[in-house]
Amino acid sequence: MICFYQYAVDRLTPQRRSWNMSRIRGSDTGPEKSVRSLLQRMGFRFTLRRRGLPGRPDIVLPKWRTAVFVHGCFWHQHAGCRNAVMPKTRPDFWAKKLQGNVMRDEATTRALKDLGWRVITIWECELKQVDQLQRRLKRVLRGRAKR
Ligand SMILES: [Zn+2]
Repeated sequence: MICFYQYAVDRLTPQRRSWNMSRIRGSDTGPEKSVRSLLQRMGFRFTLRRRGLPGRPDIVLPKWRTAVFVHGCFWHQHAGCRNAVMPKTRPDFWAKKLQGNVMRDEATTRALKDLGWRVITIWECELKQVDQLQRRLKRVLRGRAKR
C-alpha cells in the first residue's frame, strides 16, 4: 500500500485544483480526447464507456479485449508523479478520499482481469510525451493476439 503521507508538500494552487476537478467530470475531458485521437491515428478501433464492464473504462478496444483508463495524476495518485502531491490542508480528508480512489482502481483492474480483459492505465502526465506513449501503446497492444 502506498503511504499517502509521503506527499507532504502541496504544490497545487487552488486554480490548478479546480482545473483538475473540472477535468474529472464527464466523459469528454481533454486527456481522454487526446488518447482517443492518438488511438485513431494509430489505426485502432475502439468504443467508449461500454456498459457492463467493471469501472466503465474510458475507452474499450473489443478486438484486443483491452480496457483503457485515462487517469488524472492527482485524483488517482499516480505513484511517484509530481502531480500527485497530497494537499496540506485537511490531510485526513484527502488521504481518505484519494486512497478510496486508488483502492477502487485496483478493484476495477482486478475485476476486469478476472473477466479476461487487459487493462491499460494512461496517466495524464504521459500525454506530454505522445511519442513515448504511442510506443508504449503499440508495444502493449501488439503483445496480444487479435480476437
Ligand atoms: Zn503523472
